Amino acid sequence: MEAMKRFEVEVSELRETFNSGKTREESWRRSQLKGILNLLKEKEDDIFMALKQDLGKHHTEAYRDEVGTLVKTVNYALGGLKQWMSGEKVKLPIAAFPTSAELVPEPLGLVLVISSWNFPFGLSLEPVIGAIAAGNVVVLKPSELAPASSSVLANTIHNYLDNKAIKVIQGGASVGQQLLHLKWDKIFFTGSAKVGRMVLNAAAKHLTPVTLELGGKCPAIVDSLTASRDKEIAIKRILSAKFGTCAGQACIGIDYILAEKKYSSTLVQLLKEQSQKMFGENPKESNSISRIVNKTHFSRLKALLDEPSVKASIVFGGSFDEQNLFIEPTILVDPPLKSTIMTEEIFGPLLPIITLEKIEESIEFLKSRPKPLTIYAFTNNEKLKKKLSSETSSGSLVFNDAIIQYAADTLPFGGVGESGFGRYHGKFSFEEFSHQKAIARRSFLTDFWFRYPPWTEQKLQL
Ligand code: NAD
Repeated sequence: MEAMKRFEVEVSELRETFNSGKTREESWRRSQLKGILNLLKEKEDDIFMALKQDLGKHHTEAYRDEVGTLVKTVNYALGGLKQWMSGEKVKLPIAAFPTSAELVPEPLGLVLVISSWNFPFGLSLEPVIGAIAAGNVVVLKPSELAPASSSVLANTIHNYLDNKAIKVIQGGASVGQQLLHLKWDKIFFTGSAKVGRMVLNAAAKHLTPVTLELGGKCPAIVDSLTASRDKEIAIKRILSAKFGTCAGQACIGIDYILAEKKYSSTLVQLLKEQSQKMFGENPKESNSISRIVNKTHFSRLKALLDEPSVKASIVFGGSFDEQNLFIEPTILVDPPLKSTIMTEEIFGPLLPIITLEKIEESIEFLKSRPKPLTIYAFTNNEKLKKKLSSETSSGSLVFNDAIIQYAADTLPFGGVGESGFGRYHGKFSFEEFSHQKAIARRSFLTDFWFRYPPWTEQKLQL
């Protein structure tokens, strides 16, 4: 059967399931969430193997960022589901007495999830968990750039979940395009701003609500901390968030650092020493750094360093091994702000440090650029923290750590401006995939004659 026809058949089967009403039942939602838990438990080794194959991810990192985080998310959803589904009573004005009113969440219907390759399980299943918890039916299209992970998802999900309600469709841009031609009740997209715009265009045709989880350049402001313990912890957290998280191929990874000029040589020295402790003298031998996803991205990253003025700014690392898709953790100081490494999202293990005379200048620097998914600031300066909170805009703002915000169910995850819109995780996911229906209940006990036409001046006085 031609692909488009097959997708239409799959989608109409999903609609039928949704219309049957079974996905609205709490028991169905619970059974599906438990299915995901079982999948994660029983297929853990397959998941680790696929992540090794696609990205050279160590299984400890894979557990931290994908399996473990997902197990936590499902358990959180199972714990909160009853209360999330129960809605909320609200008050109406006294003029409407006697009335009762409530907000009741209802599922949106048919959901399309298009995900990215860097956390192929996390970025696929995290929204699927929210969509199921909210009682929807789902098509998941994982990224073709992580083929082993995509095929684990496609080959296992139907054994653990209701395959009349949750389907995986594999493929790349052309499959994505075909899916976008169909009518959905919600599209949840994780990926680039370029494709995000296409998603938005396609959604406009059916007025489909969209969540766009995009990327951008997440800065880390690094102040010259005074206590040596604080300094050491900050350096470890920066390196782990950059090189130790999918080799910098992370939407909330640190893209670049802003630091004072007078602190930069100390900072570089501390980063070098700690990097050697984490990844050894010869990082190519380390199994704690993921590999670059493919040759295209490898060449893209290599080209960033090939610009002569950028190459001249390398102070640490800078070597490549194309055969193994390995790029050494690399630190640069003051590459030109007009160079591609400073104008486009890096998405790899290259870490530029941009120096400023005063750390406070970082605020103007950030205000003149697109709003990032996250701003990180390593500082104990309360005045600076306050200014950053009130004067800059970003999806999230994190002080003295990085990446932790992703794992917090109680914080919404999402962007603003160029980094996207909509939010998810924890109860926010449930809400993102629900419509809050307003229900008002009135009785016939009281009534007022002046609320009805014909209009008179006397009625206006009352
Ligand atoms: P991408 O936009 O190229 O691809 C994302 C998904 O869209 C993939 O499934 C892909 O197959 C599909 N796709 C590609 N072209 C399409 C088209 N024309 N029509 C329909 N679907 C299409 O992005 P990517 O390379 O997977 O991811 C990198 C970007 O994603 C970075 O900017 C990164 O910051 C961002 N990202 C954001 C988050 C987040 O949670 N905010 C997470 C990971 C990645």
